[in-house]
Amino acid sequence: MKISLFPEKCIACGLCQTYSDLFDYHDDGIVKFTTDDSLTKDVPECDAKIISAVKNCPTKALTIL
Ligand code: SF4
Repeated sequence: MKISLFPEKCIACGLCQTYSDLFDYHDDGIVKFTTDDSLTKDVPECDAKIISAVKNCPTKALTIL
């Protein structure tokens, strides 16, 4: 599956990294991928931690494609 980030929707709440270390933050707290600055990434299917992060993002700044 693919995960997409929409940094313009992120409110820097810090929740997503508590679910999965796929997610990290810029200095201003806005979400990024831990490994690089891309906005879309292929991840293993059915990774429950990532799915939880996406479902619990309060502003839908994370999506599963
Ligand atoms: S959970 Fe959503 S709003 Fe909060 S830091 Fe992560 S992407 Fe941003």
